[in-house]
Amino acid sequence: MKNLPDIEKLDREFVWHPFTQMSEWEKDRNVLIERGEGVFLYDIYGNKYIDGVSSLWVNVHGHNNPELNEALKEQIDKISHSTLLGLSNVPSAILAEKLVEIAPKNLKKVFYSDSGSTSVEIAIKVAFQYFRQKGSAYKNKKKIIAATSAYHGDTIGSVSVGGIELFHSIYKPLLFETIRITYPYCYRCPFNMKYAACGLHCAKEAEKIIKVHAEESCALIIEPMIQGASGMITMPPGYMKKIERACKDNGVLLILDEVATGFGRTGKMFAAFHEDILPDAMCVAKGITGGYLPMAATLFTKEIYDGFLGGCSDNKTFFHGHTYTGNQLAAACAVKSLELFKKYRLIDKIQPLIARLNELLSDFRHLESVGDLRSIGIMAGIELVRDKASKEPFLPEERIGHKVVLNARENGVIIRPLGDTIVIMPPLVIDEKTLDDLMSVIYDSVKKIAG
Ligand SMILES: *Cc1c(COP(=O)(O)O)cnc(C)c1O
Repeated sequence: MKNLPDIEKLDREFVWHPFTQMSEWEKDRNVLIERGEGVFLYDIYGNKYIDGVSSLWVNVHGHNNPELNEALKEQIDKISHSTLLGLSNVPSAILAEKLVEIAPKNLKKVFYSDSGSTSVEIAIKVAFQYFRQKGSAYKNKKKIIAATSAYHGDTIGSVSVGGIELFHSIYKPLLFETIRITYPYCYRCPFNMKYAACGLHCAKEAEKIIKVHAEESCALIIEPMIQGASGMITMPPGYMKKIERACKDNGVLLILDEVATGFGRTGKMFAAFHEDILPDAMCVAKGITGGYLPMAATLFTKEIYDGFLGGCSDNKTFFHGHTYTGNQLAAACAVKSLELFKKYRLIDKIQPLIARLNELLSDFRHLESVGDLRSIGIMAGIELVRDKASKEPFLPEERIGHKVVLNARENGVIIRPLGDTIVIMPPLVIDEKTLDDLMSVIYDSVKKIAG
């Protein structure tokens, strides 16, 4: 066993971190996590931090949760992994029923994979293949409609439907062509209008695009109610419903990417429930195992599933499957996680917490650098700006968001920014006192660093 400071050396020497400029990483003082307990993380020196972003938006019931641990131990003593290719297994079958039970009511079939990105790839490929098999009347339906500034993952297919210039533009030559609707962003309205006087002009524009391109489009993919990675950008009420209507009216499949919003994060089990959306497909991942193990699922309607049935020689099989699909440890953990939602009535329990978060957020409004505050449920973004009146952003090289996060870290809070938007997304089980502590550290850091 290496002694602890050596681990830092090993990390610097051998590990290439995701979404990280490694030359900066080598300069910064980095935190090496050794253990977790509830909503707290502990580094190798025993320093304690509040996990303010649920370990990248995944943790639900807290770290080192005794009930999830027990479920895993029980499963590990039976078997850790077999495969779903040609075999079935106990926890993945149980989980599929439980997912269907809590999902929008038209979704009936569960296809497993292991990350948000793969769940999106699956939705895209299924939508494409579905129309290939539906008959010659649909032969032109090959394109995907996606939203501006969308984030659907990092694999080539999910990057193709993504729209974050900074992450995605370099890969353009590798990507397939998509059709774009404009994601609403009321603080910096792309149409220069004001909600609600605008009469949801953005939705009307999107409706037009969906209509015009329906004949060549198999599906529309969107992050419902809130775009995560683009900066916690919330939709105005009514937008999602109009998109759903336009898809239905024009025969375009609606794929909801609930990878970030699923499992209670928006204050309901799925963001779809805010406007009673019935998608044709839904991608879930991040929170599915409570933040313990990589797992994802894409849920489909029976109609889509039936479109793949036929004799072996019909070639309607969905030839797709990741090796660890339906992994028993992950599935057992996810089953237990969903049981905990029920047992502790977690969705009801977080409602007062959401109210408290909104109250604490509103305190930020008077800070000179705070341009916009956005939240839904227990996910929030604070957009920092150089000039409140003109909404002029900070320069990217000032790295204001990054500096705020480093300052918060010195004061016992782990968060991660999206550019100059400070993200707040604690585990659902955070108590009010700890939420207050979290927000107070973030408040002081914003005030100190950005003014
Ligand atoms: C994180 C995320 C993804 C990608 O999930 P990975 O597990 O990182 O591949 C896809 N869509 C949304 C909305 C996400 O937030």
